[in-house]
Amino acid sequence: MRLFVALTPPPELRARLGELADIAHARCGGRRMPDASLHVTLAFLGEVTEAQAAELVAWVQGLSITPGEWHINRWGSFRRPGIVWLGGDEGAPALQRLQGRLWGTLEPLGVGVRPARYIPHVTLLRRATVLDLDPFPPIALTWSYNQLELIQSTIDERGARYRSLAVSQG
Ligand code: ATP
Ligand code: MG
Repeated sequence: MRLFVALTPPPELRARLGELADIAHARCGGRRMPDASLHVTLAFLGEVTEAQAAELVAWVQGLSITPGEWHINRWGSFRRPGIVWLGGDEGAPALQRLQGRLWGTLEPLGVGVRPARYIPHVTLLRRATVLDLDPFPPIALTWSYNQLELIQSTIDERGARYRSLAVSQG
């Protein structure tokens, strides 16, 4: 099964991110991420075995992370898959530390591949046809987090569907 580790937004922030996704969708087209799927990936694990998944569930359930805040203040895009996203300070030290700590455990488990560079972002659109983000409204959002989730992604013709398998201690 296909897994990743992510932060999921608290309800008010989720709604606000959804509004921004609507704004982006009206201009850029493509496939808007449903509100329920909005997240920031910390670690993409890819395909794992049932046994590895069970190990990962136990690990995440026993994990407690340092609470933090992530400041979202810019729009961005990845050209090739037509992704429009929201991001922030890429150096976001707390998120970079959290991501590094996760890979410190994941690497010895032999799941996934630690990326050379981590760009935290919230994907709003996929396969967007317009990637000019110039006149988009300035944003300043704060994402307060105290737990992360292990999520299963099932991909079908309508895109990916996510299911939470485990939540760390809050
Ligand atoms: P789809 O692939 O159908 O467009 P999706 O990207 O939402 O949907 P997944 O591909 O399962 O679903 O990805 C789950 C999460 O992991 C997303 O946040 C995605 O951006 C991220 N992700 C996927 N592949 C990688 C990768 N190779 N490296 C880093 N992050 C990835
Ligand atoms: Mg994908």
